[in-house]
Amino acid sequence: MDIILEIKVLGAAKEVGRSAFLVSSENSNILLDYGILLKREPEFPIHVKPKDIHAIVISHAHLDHSGNVPSLFLSSSRSQVIATAPTMDLSYLLINDMLKISGFYLPFENIEVENMVKNHTDLDFRTKHAINDLNITLFESGHVVGGSSIIVECKGKKIFYTGDINTRGSKLLRPADLDFEEIDMMIIESTYSQTNQKQREQSEKELLEFAYDIVENDGTLFIPAFSVERSQEIACVFKAANFPYKVVMDGMALKVNEIISKYPEFLRDSELFKNAIENVEWIRDWKRRKQVIKQPCVIISPAGMLVGGSAIFYMQNLMNSDKNGIALVSYQGENTPGRLLLEKKTFKMNGKIKKCFAQVKQFEFSGHNSREELFEILDRVKGNPTVLAVHGDNDVCVKFSEEISEKYGYESFAPNAGDTYKL
Ligand SMILES: [Zn+2]
Ligand SMILES: [Zn+2]
Repeated sequence: MDIILEIKVLGAAKEVGRSAFLVSSENSNILLDYGILLKREPEFPIHVKPKDIHAIVISHAHLDHSGNVPSLFLSSSRSQVIATAPTMDLSYLLINDMLKISGFYLPFENIEVENMVKNHTDLDFRTKHAINDLNITLFESGHVVGGSSIIVECKGKKIFYTGDINTRGSKLLRPADLDFEEIDMMIIESTYSQTNQKQREQSEKELLEFAYDIVENDGTLFIPAFSVERSQEIACVFKAANFPYKVVMDGMALKVNEIISKYPEFLRDSELFKNAIENVEWIRDWKRRKQVIKQPCVIISPAGMLVGGSAIFYMQNLMNSDKNGIALVSYQGENTPGRLLLEKKTFKMNGKIKKCFAQVKQFEFSGHNSREELFEILDRVKGNPTVLAVHGDNDVCVKFSEEISEKYGYESFAPNAGDTYKL
């Protein structure tokens, strides 16, 4: 039988990071994501020749999916960049911020980021877009604002790439959309396939209890949170519960507020979002920053793993008193300051490791599906797809892939980078 599509795994193979998949047909080559692996020195997916690539589809703005796209615009590449409008705006913001912090290690500069934007085409959900003989459709993925899963079709063959996915939704986002016809291949994220997470309502309740506890005892609660989605989600949690005390927001989260405000149609409840960000005070200068740390209130600010930004200032000023609290609401990567705080109750200040006296708690607010929910996706999709389990740690992808072939009888793989599959 003729081969209609070839899929080459370029990244996110047995790891979380540098997601990148090359899909080729008879006369087209497209990339699904082209991300980076965020480490002190970032790592990249397998190289492709930019002139061979007709289009790059970005599933969502997180840098492990979008971060290396500008490297394809070093020469006078004419590749199209396809993403939803908020994904493009948020990718632009995050990539430029990454350039400021770790530009030294990156193979591109601002000019390439500008070229990426110049070549982009907005695509709405559920709207078919043709690239030669390939058709692309984006489906809401429920993971971050503008985030999508991607379907690629060619001559009756269909690939479904989940991207990062959340089928339960959140205060901010609708659940992922899985309403489509039979598929022949599924590339599925595996991040939490071996872990069950707490119900979201339970996490919200526990976070609110902690906040009441700290603020009513005259303390300040600091919530380091990713600037995209998590900060806004947390603001919505406080608003929806009519939390009666002061909540402030700082850092790049404020720019994200402005971007998200442009796209109410991408939100589950745009009224709640509007009220939530109007309800919080936006901290814009050092004078206010220095005042709020002396008040009983809640402070939401990036970075989620305490790597940089105004988070450092807040830690330095709040960690010395047990009246204060730190609520970690994001995943804490290995060797990050956030992980050290959680495990050792220490924080590095001016090059010295110091003990943290503030109360530290972690709450689960993941934007990813948990194990049960990933299996629900497999229950719901139609067809007899070959499955590639990606975007999970080594063992996690391998186990998930084995479970899928046992339970569903599908051909299933935990691919290595460079592996190719044919349809
Ligand atoms: Zn993501
Ligand atoms: Zn990801």
